[in-house]
Amino acid sequence: MIHRSGYVALVGPPNAGKSTLLNQIVRSRLGIVSPKPQTTRRRTLGIVTGEGYQIVLLDTPGIIDPKYPLQEALMRTVGEVLTDADLAVVLLDAGAVRPERLGISDRAGRFEGKRIAVLNKIDLLRRRDEMIPLLQSISETGLFAEIVPISALTGEGVDRLLSVIISFLDEGPAFYPEDQLTEQPERFFVGEMIREQAFLRFQEEIPYSIEVELTEFKERPESKDYIEAVLFVESNSQKGIVIGRHGQAIRALGEAARASIEQFLGRPVYLDLRVKVAPKWRRDEAALRRLGYRT
Ligand code: GDP
Ligand code: MG
Repeated sequence: MIHRSGYVALVGPPNAGKSTLLNQIVRSRLGIVSPKPQTTRRRTLGIVTGEGYQIVLLDTPGIIDPKYPLQEALMRTVGEVLTDADLAVVLLDAGAVRPERLGISDRAGRFEGKRIAVLNKIDLLRRRDEMIPLLQSISETGLFAEIVPISALTGEGVDRLLSVIISFLDEGPAFYPEDQLTEQPERFFVGEMIREQAFLRFQEEIPYSIEVELTEFKERPESKDYIEAVLFVESNSQKGIVIGRHGQAIRALGEAARASIEQFLGRPVYLDLRVKVAPKWRRDEAALRRLGYRT
């Protein structure tokens, strides 16, 4: 039997469900998800291995017109992921397909390989036949080798999408051991889970103004792992909101983040959060570089 493998970029507009799809396929919570656009900021790698195939999925930030240096760095990430990918899976929200923007993946990386369009969130359509004009307008662009309707949330259509992805991959070996889920270190996902809580709990500019940096991650044989993280915000007033009255807000955030971290790691941790002001870090290229973004 032939074995197929390849790198598959998950790209598309913000909020289309890219990270939800990554999680649905790898059956783990690698990508952070929130109802707000631009939750994902870094390339997140998930590996699926099955009979005769290995797919390396790369989740990316939503494609937008960048307005400040952080967003420019995010779009650079999308471009780099597409450059390395064998196949692009372009997610579109069935409730928000904008035919004039379907060329979206080109602007970020002038992707040369094949593209599969995924019409996501079909569970939200009132009637299934509402899909027809959407599929038609996607097809008319001529950009896509295949169009697959799915619900990343319920999993409907995802097996079919997997078969379509596999059919477009070249013959090749597995790059990773079959039980490996990702290649990024635990500390990456820990930081992301803290940031996810910021997206779920705060409104307006605050989630966008927050960056999380892990300052300590110590495994302690006799007790729980010790994790210390700093939440950077952009102003003192934001710091006040994130900490909350008598520290309530940051304590609640920490408890929720700890629960998801413990579930992910499968072991108890001690989580210590600090809040610091880093004025305008999103517009400061030196600060962005220090935080690991490509400027
Ligand atoms: P991303 O920005 O493309 O990574 O989108 P996310 O995965 O963060 O999802 C954005 C929002 O859409 C979240 O609230 C998800 O729960 C929701 N979502 C994603 N996929 C689906 C879907 O198939 N159906 C429904 N109803 N909601 C979805
Ligand atoms: Mg995402």
